[in-house]
Amino acid sequence: AKTDPKEKCVQFQQHMRLLRDQHLAIKKDLERAIREHEFTLHFQPIACTQTDRVISAEALIRWQHPERGLVAPDDFIPVAEETGLINEIGEWVNRQVCSMQARLAEMSLPLPLALNVSPRQLSDPDFVSKMKALPMETGCDPSMLSIEITEGVLLGDIPNALETLSSLKEAGYRIVIDDFGTGYSNLAYLHNYPIDGIKIDRVFMEDVEAGGAIVKLVLSLASALGADVVAEGVETIEQRRWLSENGCHRFQGYLYSKPVPEDRFLSMLHTQSRI
Ligand code: C2E
Ligand code: CA
Ligand code: CA
Ligand code: CA
Repeated sequence: AKTDPKEKCVQFQQHMRLLRDQHLAIKKDLERAIREHEFTLHFQPIACTQTDRVISAEALIRWQHPERGLVAPDDFIPVAEETGLINEIGEWVNRQVCSMQARLAEMSLPLPLALNVSPRQLSDPDFVSKMKALPMETGCDPSMLSIEITEGVLLGDIPNALETLSSLKEAGYRIVIDDFGTGYSNLAYLHNYPIDGIKIDRVFMEDVEAGGAIVKLVLSLASALGADVVAEGVETIEQRRWLSENGCHRFQGYLYSKPVPEDRFLSMLHTQSRI
């Protein structure tokens, strides 16, 4: 039997109410998380395809939830973005990563680090001035910090993208395009922006398995732009070998290491520096 349209309408309204309530609940939960410092950073090494040594790392946020345990960013960053709470969370992330870079340098481990910034953060009018203050406040070297943004940022997701990115670049930070190849196929915009690096999205590891025609194209594009390349989501020795043989020197993925807590990341670095 068909459901009567009126009944359907009631069901829809109930569904929307449920969604709104869930959204509100996560928002409240996130506000507490900010107050109670429930966030933590994991670090995923970026290694050299030829020497297998750690050459950099990406900071990735986790939420140490009192009931739910360790919550992955995909389960809360979207709500944080919608509610604007991402700005406050992101400020914490940026300060943590900058301090970490300064501490590494003090330990004679001058390793570049990367942090993620969402479009909503970049459109915050205070974002640039806060980033500019961090080297003085934390002792970090901005040239050792990459700001990872997604392709959408370059294509009108945020107003004044060029101005914002140029100011960050002027402040000494590196600008890196994350998830490259998943957003748009229009490449015409690329040379207009101050881009230091490109991260090839992990969906392209399938292309590598199939000969790597697309990845080769991205590598030569990056080289024409003078940008470094990191291959993301590298899970097999064969993928790493292909990258090494085709001039891609940086890789990140489960083959080398999953993202790990800070203490484990530091012990990896100390072990490496003794070898
Ligand atoms: P992303 O920036 O593209 O980060 C890479 C994601 O791929 C991470 O997921 C990482 O754990 C996962 N990954 C790494 N190697 C492999 C692999 O070999 N295979 C597979 N299948 N996955 C791999 P994670 O940590 O869950 O982060 C998800 C996304 O959340 C990130 O994607 C990023 O967009 C966002 N995110 C994470 N931390 C932050 C942050 O501090 N601020 C903002 N705004 N976004 C963040
Ligand atoms: Ca990233
Ligand atoms: Ca990525
Ligand atoms: Ca992503």
